[in-house]
Amino acid sequence: MPMKYSQVFHATRLRLAGLYAGTMGIILTICAAGFYEAMARSHVSELNHRIESVAGTLHDGLEASLQEPDKLEPIVQKFVPTLCLSGTSCSNNARALHYLGVFQENGYYIRFLTLSGQILASGGQVPTDLPIQIEAEPWQTLEASDGSRYRQLSLRLKTANQVPWGYMQVGRSLSELDGHMVWVRLILLVGLPSAMLLVVFSSWWLAGQAMQPIYRSYRQMQQFTADAAHELRTPLAAIQANLESTLTPEASDDDAWDTLRTVERQNSRLSRLVHDLLILSRMDLQKLPAKQELCTLNDLVSDLVEEFLALAIASDISLTANIQANTLVTINGCEEQLYRLVANLITNAIQYTPAGGKVTVSLQQEDHHALIQVQDTGIGVSLQEQAHIFDRFYRVNSDRSRHTGGAGLGLAIAQAIAQTHQGSIQVESELGKGSKFTVKLPARKDK
Ligand code: ADP
Repeated sequence: MPMKYSQVFHATRLRLAGLYAGTMGIILTICAAGFYEAMARSHVSELNHRIESVAGTLHDGLEASLQEPDKLEPIVQKFVPTLCLSGTSCSNNARALHYLGVFQENGYYIRFLTLSGQILASGGQVPTDLPIQIEAEPWQTLEASDGSRYRQLSLRLKTANQVPWGYMQVGRSLSELDGHMVWVRLILLVGLPSAMLLVVFSSWWLAGQAMQPIYRSYRQMQQFTADAAHELRTPLAAIQANLESTLTPEASDDDAWDTLRTVERQNSRLSRLVHDLLILSRMDLQKLPAKQELCTLNDLVSDLVEEFLALAIASDISLTANIQANTLVTINGCEEQLYRLVANLITNAIQYTPAGGKVTVSLQQEDHHALIQVQDTGIGVSLQEQAHIFDRFYRVNSDRSRHTGGAGLGLAIAQAIAQTHQGSIQVESELGKGSKFTVKLPARKDK
């Protein structure tokens, strides 16, 4: 590939890979952040639920037994046996809170506060310097001086007579959850860059894959332009050479006539080529046939066979039509284009079949398809070449074909016509034995 274009393709691939990687990176980061947030929220909500259920049960039982505001009745210790009253010294063991089984798990605590926020009693593992916030939201996340965090539910209690009594706070250390989330963060911090690295590599590879068809079609276009220029140059060069040799004082009238004949021959070759190129470029833009008319293929095939009979006889080839007499095969399409399609196949069959050979054109209907087959007993096409003969300007053997005058566009045009008619062409051939080209076209439905 020329340097300029290779740079353009490289830069486009780089940009494409960058866009892929950037987009994937943003999506991955959003997903990771969402996952982290969802996990943290689900843990906190589970913790809230547990704290709430313990606090709720205690609240219901306690309120009925509370008599005087800011005063802890001894009965409270029945509910929370290991409660440590403020001002008394409690052993560590006694501070371990046992209530409803839940407090057997580490990290829970309970505090009773007066209406003004003085601690009356506490139980469980509560740091002494944990802030007291009584007027704030019921749910709080507090931080002790050592940085450890606590989740706490603060409930206002009333006495049995519905007079405000004080506060009960039930909470739990968040150290276990924080430790867990540190691990999740660590996994994400290591995992995300690794995933990004993978994304970058796969983006580069994917961008390369995406560029392939563009690169291929660019190469095809380049090849097509080069081939077309080459094909146009040959007759032009022949005309130029002939004209130069005739436009000399020594040239006779006979030379002039010879040159004119050559110019005429080369000119018609050029016209044919330009016509073919125009058809192909029009087909490239066209999705459907130029016209949609009712085409009776029986007539089309028999007309063509009749038309090519003279050429076949001149080449000593027997050309026959094999059309099912009792079925009328019709399709929707452009008759002119279909005519060109079959004519190209018959021309090739006659051209590539030695004298004494046989060419048969048959027509039949199979299910919902019309099948046109052009079979010859000619030179055949090797399996390897069969993959290329429909390419533009492709000739199995350029030198051999050149004297026949073909530019290698016949089959490309035939295939383009079949495709605009939603059909296909297939070739079956064996070197030295002959070829069979089968055109499959969708038949008319309303029959
Ligand atoms: P051309 O103008 O050279 O005939 P085509 O596109 O019609 O170009 O065909 C491409 C090549 O396929 C030909 O050069 C020829 O070698 C081969 N080919 C086409 N039809 C036949 C056939 N019936 N038998 C043998 N070879 C064929």
